[in-house]
This record gives sequence, C-alpha cells and structure tokens, in this order.
Amino acid sequence: MTVHTITVLGAGIMGRGIAYASAWGGFRTVLQDTSQEALDRATSEITALFEKGVATGKLVEADAVAARKRISTARALEESAREADLVVEAVPESIELKVQIFAALDRATRPGAVLASNTSSLSITEMAAVTRRPQHVLGMHFFNPVHRMKLLEVVRGLETGDDAIATALMVGEKMGKEGVVVRESPGFVTSRINAMIGNEAFYMLQEGVASARDIDKALKLGLNHPMGPFELVDLVGLDTRLSILRFLHRTLGEKFRPCPLMEQYVAAGRLGRKSGRGVYEYPAS
Ligand code: NAD
Repeated sequence: MTVHTITVLGAGIMGRGIAYASAWGGFRTVLQDTSQEALDRATSEITALFEKGVATGKLVEADAVAARKRISTARALEESAREADLVVEAVPESIELKVQIFAALDRATRPGAVLASNTSSLSITEMAAVTRRPQHVLGMHFFNPVHRMKLLEVVRGLETGDDAIATALMVGEKMGKEGVVVRESPGFVTSRINAMIGNEAFYMLQEGVASARDIDKALKLGLNHPMGPFELVDLVGLDTRLSILRFLHRTLGEKFRPCPLMEQYVAAGRLGRKSGRGVYEYPAS
C-alpha cells in the first residue's frame, strides 16, 4: 500500500516526535490534538528540532524547511483523519479513550486506511474490535525520544493482516526506524521488561537500598544501560509508567504490582520532566 499522508493523534511527548519523524520521512503529516496549547508547544518543539538538526549539520537546510512544511495541525479528529492513509494514535494510555478514538477513526477515515496505536502495553485486538477493519489495525510502538530511538515495535493483534504489517514496516523504514514484529501480549517485549526494571528500582528507593542517583549510576556503569531507570521514567512520565504497570499487574499478575512510592509521586503531581519534577527536579530553562 502507498502511504502519502499520515495523521498523528495526540501532540504530547510521543505524538510530536512521531510527527517530526513522519515529516522527515517524506510524508504529509497532520498532527491533531484537542488541546491548542499542546499543538502550540508541539509546533515550536518540532521547529526547534529541525533547526537544531541544521545547526549541528545533521540536516540540510532545504530538506529541513521542506519537511517542516509537510506538517499541519488540527483540533478535530474528523478534519485531521479525512485524507489519512495511515493514522498513528498517541493519546494517553487509557483503553477507554483509545477504544472511543478507534471507533471515531473508523467512521472518519477512508475504508482502506491503516489505523495504528502507539500504545506501550494495551490490547490492539480490543481497539480493532470496535472497527469494521480489524485487518487494518495494528500497533506501531515508537520510543522516546522518537527522533533518536531506532526501534519500531510493530504489534500484530489477533486479526491484523500481513498488508498492514508490511505498511507499518515500510513507513518505519522511511522514518529511519528498524522494525521488530511482536505478537500482541501485555507490554509487548520492551514495555514489559522496562516496567519491571523501573518498578524494581522504585522498590529499592523505597527500601532505602541506595539513593536514586546511585541506583541510576549502578545501572549505567555496571550494567551498561545508557540511562538510569529514574532518568528514564522522568523522561517517559511517571503517570504513563504507572498506567502501564497497573495494566501489567492486572494481566500478568503480582510481579508487576506498582510500587507504592511511585503511586505517591504521581499523586503528588511529580510526573517527570513534563511537570518540572519527577524523581529529579528540572528547573524551567
Ligand atoms: P502525553 O500525555 O505527553 O500526550 C498525550 C496527548 O494527547 C496530550 O497532548 C493530550 O492533549 C492529547 N489528547 C488527550 N485526549 C485526546 C483526544 N481525545 N484526542 C486527541 N488528543 C488527545 O502522552 P505520551 O507520553 O505522548 O503518550 C502517548 C501514548 O504513547 C501512550 O499510549 C503511551 O503509553 C505511549 N508511549 C509513551 C512513551 C513515553 O515515553 N512517554 C513511549 C512509547 C509509547
């Protein structure tokens, strides 16, 4: 299938990164969010990313200008989805919200369009079930920050067809990503492992085994992780991580019970970089 236009739903941490990668990959890109503030912030961050690419010599100026021009924004799903060959949904990690959005997308897009979710853990089959095209529904799980992370985890739901998988891999390749195809299972490969490590790190912090800085340092210098678990969860968002853990706990059992300290941080509004404070503090620059 040929893809010209990609619509990205949700202009948060992931949506703006996916929109950047999509435009960079040569696709006409529509970024949709119900919040104007999120769209404004996304637009300025995407512009800054292209400018930085030029300044550091990674992008040719004319290419960056052309790619930036391929991105437009919209507030209404119906308006943004009409022309789409592929939709990548990146709204918050809630199955109720995603199911509602997939039902709306099924009505708003042309029948052959592929519908993908960037969910970190939830069931693609459940999203596909509310559409009349489950063969065209799959997971396209990107990683944060999208412009730097090479992996695309392509998730096959119960009824996902081979054409949709091939389309996702082809689009991923044009965005500069390498794909792995994973059968649907809670948390797929990456989130399941990552949630386990991140949760265990919180239990160690709660028990006073070591400071957050030393736990991060130990995993970086001793286990060769590029980031410590607390640096990573601050980037991901503690609320997003907690939603994933709650789902994994429900589906895979006790070993994924969210650490009470993480629950407390989220209740206190310590969500990570995006709120200025998570495990660490991020003074406004
Ligand atoms: P985020 O909270 O940063 O952004 C979500 C955006 O969705 C917000 O801008 C919000 O205004 C918008 N939104 C809410 N309801 C909407 C609606 N009905 N229609 C359109 N937009 C709506 O979240 P995020 O971290 O970007 O996560 C998005 C998805 O990506 C989640 O499913 C998450 O699990 C997944 N994901 C996150 C990461 C990560 O590191 N944060 C990594 C991989 C996958």
